[in-house]
Order: sequence, then structure tokens, then C-alpha cells
Amino acid sequence: MSPLQIENLRRRLLAPESLVTGPEIHEDYAHDATDHTGTPECLLIAETTDDVVAALKFCHRERIPVTPRGTGTGLSGGCVASPGALLLSTEKLKSIEIDPTLKVAFCGPGDITKELQDAALAHGLAYPPDPASYEECSMGGNIAENAGGLRCKRFGVTRDYVIGLEAVLMDGSLIRTGVLNKNRGFSLGDVIVGSEGTLAVVTRIAVRLIDQPGPGDTILVAFKRQRDAAQTVTDITRAGIIPSVMEFLDGDAAACANEYEKTEGLDEAAALLLLETSDIDRELQTERIKQICEKNDCSYLRTESDAERADNLWKVRRNMTYAAKDQAELRISEDVAVPNSQFPLLVEFVSELNRRSGLRINSYGHAGDGNLHVNFMAPKDTPEAREETERHIRTLMQKTIELGGTLSGEHGIGLAKRPYLSLEFDSHTLRAMHNVKSVFDPNNLLNSDKIFPTEK
Ligand SMILES: Cc1cc2nc3c(=O)[nH]c(=O)nc-3n(C[C@H](O)[C@H](O)[C@H](O)COP(=O)(O)OP(=O)(O)OC[C@H]3O[C@@H](n4cnc5c(N)ncnc54)[C@H](O)[C@@H]3O)c2cc1C
Repeated sequence: MSPLQIENLRRRLLAPESLVTGPEIHEDYAHDATDHTGTPECLLIAETTDDVVAALKFCHRERIPVTPRGTGTGLSGGCVASPGALLLSTEKLKSIEIDPTLKVAFCGPGDITKELQDAALAHGLAYPPDPASYEECSMGGNIAENAGGLRCKRFGVTRDYVIGLEAVLMDGSLIRTGVLNKNRGFSLGDVIVGSEGTLAVVTRIAVRLIDQPGPGDTILVAFKRQRDAAQTVTDITRAGIIPSVMEFLDGDAAACANEYEKTEGLDEAAALLLLETSDIDRELQTERIKQICEKNDCSYLRTESDAERADNLWKVRRNMTYAAKDQAELRISEDVAVPNSQFPLLVEFVSELNRRSGLRINSYGHAGDGNLHVNFMAPKDTPEAREETERHIRTLMQKTIELGGTLSGEHGIGLAKRPYLSLEFDSHTLRAMHNVKSVFDPNNLLNSDKIFPTEK
């Protein structure tokens, strides 16, 4: 953006001081939680929807690209500023209102997921989507990525709760969908959820809430053989048991978490399962899960009903991202998903990659819905380590597709998976997605370097 353009934009804003440029921009805005970087020339931390409208209208007229941003916890480079773009942060657009009678919440894109959950809880209600980053990530980012979470097997993902959106299109026009538009017309909100900031900037969100479920028991189970853990997941699913949470960690991921913060029972585990039983038939479910684990030869099993002690066990899973970062200079995390029946094959494939590779490769994820996060780690960030990582990622992507899966379980395509998109989608489907993008943003200005491969 030229100095003149910056001044012209500043003049149009209700809060001109919310536009920052050059060295005034904090380094945090140059990346998300991946190592994709892009230093923005100009950052608007919008304080009102009117300023989002003004900025987009101006950028549209001047043909300036725009990248929307929440709180930057994304794992696919989605909020990293496009070259020459205005980075538009919605982190300050906060406003939570709960309607306990209708069991509906309204919030801004800048509200943190946990803030919304806490506000709902104050009325005995729950907003169930719970990305592991729930204390830091914004609702705008959750909508854009269709964030999942630990409880998604039982309760679903972000998309299952969104009932209305207000959003600003690249030309500055403001649209409302769902309950914010009396539920009239096309379901445009469904297209915006998961569109990774490429179709519109979300400025207001309506979600449905549920009655706060009661607590379940937390069960930590270790196995001496990985296939026994995978078999346990299959057996629990076949028995028709739907725990609130069922997380898997392979042996190396368990070791990694244990090196970061020691937890009893994890030494020498070849695989771990962490479960939270449903509050419905809690005792019966706990008993049946224990029986299945024992039948599959588990080496350690601990059940906790006390919330604080249970929370300690969940640290094993929550620490995973930080543990991996702590132990490797180079760490690239992928998130793929396969049908449940193929989960054991995918897990075994990753372990085999780990055995064959000079890198440290481990996996963990939401076993309940086939979503596996795979870490590729090297002690030093060298060109050779990067080259080997790229090679293994491509093999992982190919295997995932072969098993009938998808390249992104919940973290989006962004910049990270853009090169692999054509492995999953045929040219007709890609063209259809492109056409939708053109309707919302004909000049391809909004987060234009994300999702779609450069060669069309
Ligand atoms: C430790 C850790 C654990 C995580 N665990 C999970 C998990 O369990 N499940 C999961 O799904 N994800 C997880 N994530 C990923 C991440 O937290 C989610 O993708 C989250 O939804 C991103 O929110 P954000 O506010 O940080 O968005 P950002 O990273 O700022 O942006 C993400 C995308 O959203 C777009 N965007 C942001 N705000 C808006 C807006 N107002 N309008 C339009 N587009 C917008 C951006 O352009 C970008 O494409 C994890 C991340 C970390 C670091």
C-alpha cells in the first residue's frame, strides 16, 4: 500500500489509530502457529463493523488484497498476510450475549472460544466445540476453519452449531444469514463456514447452545502394542459406545508428552487412549470400556471422576503441541482424517514411516472420528530435514487418500496444504469451488493466496 493509500484509508476509519504500519506492527502478526510467515505492511485491528466495511470497500476500489485474522492460532498458515495485503484483525470485535430461553448465543468474531463457553455455562448451557486451543482461538477463526475438537465425535464441530452469521464481502457489502436474517433465502452461512477467510469477513455470529452435560469419567489407558489400542477403538465403536472424548496417542507421541511433563503410567507405552465417558449411563459406560481395554491387554488403566485430577490426565493430550515444539527445532504438523475403520491402518503407516525415517514422526488425534495429527520433527531445521519432511508429507497425503480419507481433518488448507489439494479433489470440484469464490470476490482479493493451488 502506498503512503497515500494508507492515509486515505485512515481517513475513512472511525478509529484511525487502529491502523498500524511498518515497524509499529508487532512481530506476532507475521505468522500463525505454523512456520509460515509474511510480514504485513499494514494492519487494521478493527474496533467496529463499520470500520471493517470501510476498509473492505476502500481496498476493493483500490484493488488491495486483504487477509482476515483472528488470534493467529491457526495451523495451516491461513491468516498469514498475502503479499501486499492489508491484514485485517477481528480480535477486538467482542460482544457475547446469551439468550437462555432460546438457548442461543450471539458473539463477535473476536470472542475467544472459552469466553463463549464460560458465558454459556453461567446459564447452565454449553457451547460444545472445543478445539484444544480453546483458551486462545477466536470464534471468527473457528468459523473460518470449521474448528473441531476433542468432543466432536459426540457433539459435532463448529458447523453443527452455527445458526446465523453477519459478514462483510470484499466490496464492503454487509450480508446476514440464518437467524440474523429471519432464516430467509439461501443458506449462505453454510458456504462461509470453513471457507478460511476467502469469501467474507465474519463480524457477528449466532450459535445454538445445549444443556450443559454432566461430567463423565476420565480414563487413561496404556498399551504395550499399538495394534491393541487401535483394536480397542474399533471394539468400543462396534459396541455402540459413544464416549464424549476418545483420543489416541502413538508410543512416540506419549513419550514426547511424558518428556515434557511426566505422567504416571506412560513409561514404555506403545500407545495411549484417553477417554471421557458420557454423562448418560456414566458408570455402565466406564465399566464396559474398562472390560474392552482389559480384553485387549492394556498395560495400565486409571479412572478419575474428580474434575481436578482428571484435568491433570488431560494435560498429556493438551501438552502435545507444546511438547513437540519444545523438543524439535523443525516441527511440521499435519492433520488428516480417514474413515474410522481405516484408522488402525493409518496409525500403523505413520509408525512405519517413523521407523524408516531419519526424522522423528509421531501421531495423535481424535480416534473417535478418524482424525489424526502427524508431527514431523527434526532436532535442527536444515534444508535436508525440510526436504525429507516434504517427501514424507506427500506420502502421508497419498496414503490418506488411498484409505478414503481427507487431507484436512480440522486445520484447513491455508498455505500449508495448498500444494496437495489436487490429490483430493478432481478438476470439476475444484472449479466449482473457484466459481463460488468468484461470486463472493470477483477480483480475487480476499485471502487470495490460500486454499487454491496456484496452477488451476
Ligand atoms: C495448541 C493448538 C491446538 C489446536 N487444537 C485444535 C483442535 O483441537 N481443533 C481444531 O480444529 N483446531 C485446533 N487448532 C487450530 C486453531 O486453533 C483453529 O484453527 C482456530 O479455529 C483458529 O482460530 P484463530 O482465531 O486463531 O484464527 P487465525 O489463525 O487467526 O485464522 C485462521 C483462519 O481464519 C480466518 N479468519 C479469522 N478470523 C476471521 C473472520 N472474522 N472472518 C473471516 N475469516 C477469518 C483467517 O483468514 C484464517 O484463514 C489448534 C491450534 C493450536 C496452536
